Amino acid sequence: MRPASNLKPATYRCPFCGKHLASMSEHVLIAPEDDRSKRRHAHMDCVQRARQAGRLPTRDEWLAATRGPRPSLGARLRGLLPGRRLDE
Ligand SMILES: [Zn+2]
Repeated sequence: MRPASNLKPATYRCPFCGKHLASMSEHVLIAPEDDRSKRRHAHMDCVQRARQAGRLPTRDEWLAATRGPRPSLGARLRGLLPGRRLDE
């Protein structure tokens, strides 16, 4: 998650409370580590509530919790490009 500011006149739906939020209002971007395209805009208050409930680790906390043997770069790339062989 990171602070977000957006000047585009768009509204987003907060994944925590389900209500719309104005892009100009204070909010944050959250995204699963494995898929940046699934990022969501959420109310700052809702995120803080989720954080206090332990449901939303920060990037640093997530990395610390998952540090360890990681898939090879090739395996990770194959996961991103299903059906394509990288050695062709
Ligand atoms: Zn909300």
